[in-house]
Amino acid sequence: MIPQSFIDEVQSRTDIAEVIAGYIPIKKAGRNFRALCPFHGEKTPSFMISSQKQIFHCFGCNAGGGAIQFVMLYEKTTFVEALEILASRLGMTLPKTGGESGTFKNKLFEAIAAAVDFFQAELALEKNRAVKKYLNERGIGDETIKQFKIGLSPASGEALVRHLREKGYTLDILEKASLAISRGDGYRDLFRNRVMFPIFDIRSRPVAFGARLWQNIDGPKYINSIEGPLYSKRDHLYGLNFSKDEAVKADALVIVEGYLDMISPFMRGIRNVAASLGTALTEEQIRVIRRYTGNVILLFDPDKAGQSAALRAIDLAVESDLKVFAVLLPEGLDPDTMVRKEGKDEFAKLLEHKKDFFDFKLDLLKSSLDIKTIDGKTKIVAGMLSTLAKLNSEVERYEYIKKLAGCAGVREEILIAEFKKTVPAQKTRFMKTPAPRAVRQEMAITEKVILRFLLEGHAAAVIRKNLSEADFESVLAKKVVTAAFKLYDEGKDFSSTKLLNLLDEETAVAVSAVLIDDDSPLDKDLLKGCILKLRKNRLIGLKEKVKNDIKEAESRGDQARLKELINEYGKINSEVRNG
Ligand SMILES: [Zn+2]
Repeated sequence: MIPQSFIDEVQSRTDIAEVIAGYIPIKKAGRNFRALCPFHGEKTPSFMISSQKQIFHCFGCNAGGGAIQFVMLYEKTTFVEALEILASRLGMTLPKTGGESGTFKNKLFEAIAAAVDFFQAELALEKNRAVKKYLNERGIGDETIKQFKIGLSPASGEALVRHLREKGYTLDILEKASLAISRGDGYRDLFRNRVMFPIFDIRSRPVAFGARLWQNIDGPKYINSIEGPLYSKRDHLYGLNFSKDEAVKADALVIVEGYLDMISPFMRGIRNVAASLGTALTEEQIRVIRRYTGNVILLFDPDKAGQSAALRAIDLAVESDLKVFAVLLPEGLDPDTMVRKEGKDEFAKLLEHKKDFFDFKLDLLKSSLDIKTIDGKTKIVAGMLSTLAKLNSEVERYEYIKKLAGCAGVREEILIAEFKKTVPAQKTRFMKTPAPRAVRQEMAITEKVILRFLLEGHAAAVIRKNLSEADFESVLAKKVVTAAFKLYDEGKDFSSTKLLNLLDEETAVAVSAVLIDDDSPLDKDLLKGCILKLRKNRLIGLKEKVKNDIKEAESRGDQARLKELINEYGKINSEVRNG
């Protein structure tokens, strides 16, 4: 168990707006901050942060809570791990619990970080001068090696396992961190005699490796870490930890394919670049990009594979409301060789000549099909319409159909008719409608006001004295009040952040919604009025119930019960009158 005092200190020293701003760009909006929600795709921000109340809430997907809850959602961590992240921001370390230091995930992070150090030291050895030379010849100098923590895995095939075992890491940890692999009689290093590129998470912690052959020997050019608790290929964009701030500043992110395609332009001053590390972008990667910018520039090799990857990425990006541009590189060049051969300025010029998705796809189709033939024209039009169908804006779609009509020499009405025929009426939009986290339950205004008094103000004593859980009708309000009263009875004060830690996710979301929704002033009269109203409501409900019970007792002829009930009815009535 982590001492409550530690949790309290971390929470009281943490500012939620600063924490969230460390992950996504936020903008001041009145007393609050606004942002594009990182948990669902959106074009206009419905994600609100209140520094004053130390909560966030998204009206789009109904996510909400305090700083800890944000980190839990964003980093997909447990409560303790989130607390640890917030504590380390403040230079605090989690008190050790029961002799076991750190969580399993932290052990994995530590093991991979130790492997990074080990590989870097190996590369620096005099005997590995040839590898250094190989890297230098490919434009990877000392500065790049340092920044990207590039290293070398030893050829022996067991040096890393031995080294990390000596440092106390278990084989289980080494296997889960994808550093060791079980081989018949024991464990061996997963990576042998390869140039090691650490893959970093958004907080610049290494979570995996890409490993490249540096000699002309048989075997795949690259192998990667096996996916595990820290690393999933679909979610990652290589180098984004270095380039995210530049992507925000430039309001655009350049997407390339490989490690060196990212590293070389970056080191030469094109800083808003990240690599997909695969042929096509994934939905998950697009969601990550959207946290930083709404504009993406795809940079692909001019070969067939590069072209079809670009086309797939275009459809995905269009569908998720990203503005997508594409650039085909000159024949025979990839971003790495291009920037090294032609220099930064030529590279930047190439980016300036980006085409929007429409022109890019149309030109590509026209280069392989003959628009002058009926067959060619039909295929081009069909290809374009299938991408236009992914657009979420009717207006945009209409404008592009008009443009297509002009380019293809087909009347607009015909294209629209064709469009309606080929595109199902209800297309699926994978990011537009997030699954509701909780069934929204309406809370009466009075209940909301009381909750605000309880969570924001210092009216706890009055509320505890005058109301009970039973006075609240909504299940969520009841849960909040029960938890708050429990804290109060234990003699603890309850800031909303403390309370949030005690609530289940659904209830925490309800709390953040109530708090962020309303900034109207709270005064004593309002509190009094609301307390009276809640009590009265309950009494009226009670009266109805007793009335029914009386009828039932009458019909059964139960005189004793009847007397009891009439007595109760009188009591309730006088209570209602006295308010
Ligand atoms: Zn959201």
